[in-house]
Amino acid sequence: QKSNNGELVNSPEGSLASSTNQLQKPKDERIKIGFSMDTLEEERWLRDRRMFINAVKELGADVKVMEANGNEALQISQAERLISEGVDVLVVVPYNAEAAAAIVNKAHSAGIKVISYDRLIKNAEVDLYISFDNEKVGELQAKMISELVPKGKYVYIGGADTDNNAHLIKKGVYKVLQPLIDKGEIKVVFDQWTTNWIPSNAFNNMEAALKANDNDIDAVIAANDATAEEAIKALAAQGLAGKIPVAGQDAELAAAQRIVEGTQTMTVYKPLQSLTLEAAKVAVRLAKGEKVQTNSKVNNGKIEVPSILLPPIAVDRANIDATIIADGFHLKEDVYRKG
Ligand code: BGC
Repeated sequence: QKSNNGELVNSPEGSLASSTNQLQKPKDERIKIGFSMDTLEEERWLRDRRMFINAVKELGADVKVMEANGNEALQISQAERLISEGVDVLVVVPYNAEAAAAIVNKAHSAGIKVISYDRLIKNAEVDLYISFDNEKVGELQAKMISELVPKGKYVYIGGADTDNNAHLIKKGVYKVLQPLIDKGEIKVVFDQWTTNWIPSNAFNNMEAALKANDNDIDAVIAANDATAEEAIKALAAQGLAGKIPVAGQDAELAAAQRIVEGTQTMTVYKPLQSLTLEAAKVAVRLAKGEKVQTNSKVNNGKIEVPSILLPPIAVDRANIDATIIADGFHLKEDVYRKG
């Protein structure tokens, strides 16, 4: 429940004061961070959640997490609740990049800064964006696949149209493919978004792509591992799993297993430990009114958002041990499980 007269604003000293009754937040009160998540659907988000909570606690602050189950209106009302509970900073993984602008505006009216986490909130004065270089994710996918399949028919299984990352990834993919398309060596015969990142939509898209091309395709680039998994299921139904290179991203355990087994060619590993640690640090700094170092600026349609972009890593059979296993992201015995 949002109370209008209980709103909190940041005073110039960085301590919290009520906008109406000038109550000071006691100096020894712990910083509280609100984490508004879109979904816990993909494996990674559980890890983000757990690691972010731990990182914030390590820094001596508190965190309250809310998950919106892919529901735009619910995410906004949950964010309102975090705002009315007086969080010092709001960290948001937006479900809908555009709709989440309302969250930024509401938080700002209450003097609360907003960090856009992993996915960029569009058309709002976002205070900070922290993510991996998502355009690079697409570049890494297309580079590895086009080295394997320099000529032929490609299928692109995109992410959710409502997620800015899906657009950045696609941009990266085409940055690599376009020169080959222009030379007439590669033809993208199918290219569709996966509505709401829902895996069954990716399955339907892959089925449609196979049907429209009489199974005559040479490579598949999917926007994440969950959509890659469905694409591979559709390929398997035609006896084509393992015969056609498939790219994904997230380094999900099942994807790592498929890479070892040979049905998925590569994934893109994003070390979530670095993302969560860095996000927790900057959230606490912003809460204290301190300056934050950034390494990039990303335009979100309204402003150049100060950003921290971390490097993603391409992973295939050849470097899986040296990357995700060496990092402890997955255990070797889990990745190389049989059956
Ligand atoms: C994230 C991916 C994730 C996808 C679906 C994207 O914004 O960057 O890691 O797989 O959303 O949740």
